[in-house]
Amino acid sequence: MKGRTRMTRKLSRRAFLKGSLTAAASAAAVTPLARAADAAAGPSGEPLVTVINIADCTGCQECVHACRESNAGKFPRPQKPFPRMFPDRVPVEDWSDRKDVSDRLTPYNWLFIQQASAVINGEETLLTIPRRCMHCVNPPCVKLCPWGAAKQEVNGLSRIDSDICLGGSKCNKVCPWDIPQRQTGVGLYLDILPGLAGNGVMYKCDRCFQKIENGETPACIDACPEGVQTMGPKSEMVKKAKAMAKEMDGYLYGLDENGGTNTIYVSPVPFDQLAMETGKGVPHLDPVEDRMAQGTNLARAMIIAPLAGAAAAFGKFYKGMKEEDK
Ligand code: SF4
Ligand code: SF4
Ligand code: SF4
Repeated sequence: MKGRTRMTRKLSRRAFLKGSLTAAASAAAVTPLARAADAAAGPSGEPLVTVINIADCTGCQECVHACRESNAGKFPRPQKPFPRMFPDRVPVEDWSDRKDVSDRLTPYNWLFIQQASAVINGEETLLTIPRRCMHCVNPPCVKLCPWGAAKQEVNGLSRIDSDICLGGSKCNKVCPWDIPQRQTGVGLYLDILPGLAGNGVMYKCDRCFQKIENGETPACIDACPEGVQTMGPKSEMVKKAKAMAKEMDGYLYGLDENGGTNTIYVSPVPFDQLAMETGKGVPHLDPVEDRMAQGTNLARAMIIAPLAGAAAAFGKFYKGMKEEDK
């Protein structure tokens, strides 16, 4: 029943979730979110990890709206017409006329609610799952970005600097979950290599890094009426996720995938029993081996690191020059 099938009938909505399992999970999820801010300030020096309790998500989309509203200022504002690429190998990816799309990841939608069905206690049940960047512990998108545009902060979040990104989409190709999404006609390439570079900028969840820096909670966590997400220092969150899973006789995803991520999903059913659509911008929940443990990627990362540093420095310098000229 592994996830690739389309759900064709209306599913009864989680009788299961209103039961004792949810009560136990909810209790575990009520940890004050303010703690995230403390963790971000770094008293424990640990990365920030988010636990997402699938059993509690009602699919209300409040988190999606909050993410869009909070990050609207970071969304692309492409210039049209787009410059012609030479050679004509990089496709135009234009989401600017489809900003409202909310059922997948796009440059204008960094979080979406994925639907999955599963048989729980003999009853077919619909589960809803918030999906965004997993914020990998050893992120290939960061380690293999040739321009130094993707970076990882000490608290474990990864983000793409839209001032430096040339849109070559390496981050998307090496991401096991197809997370970063490209918008054509925006960014540094328009100034320096309009016909030759990557054709835009890549966008994804940046973990609301400015909010975290200011001691605030990410918008999606703050907006959720069900307390589905809990963020805090890694050791505490790992303990919590394991306790929640034990309590609900459930399963974890994200702890080991791709060598470990800073996002841990807790599910009442095994992840390989979730039937769900996947595809471009619609990530799977399959097992993932550590991509950065592969010899070729390790070697590439070592070669790229100094070049990426120089490219990023140039990007920042160029941006500074442009701002002075304004
Ligand atoms: S999930 Fe993909 S985009 Fe997010 S940190 Fe991991 S590799 Fe990068
Ligand atoms: S952490 Fe921020 S950017 Fe990421 S999904 Fe939540 S609201 Fe969106
Ligand atoms: S706001 Fe909470 S309950 Fe609503 S869809 Fe998002 S995670 Fe689920």
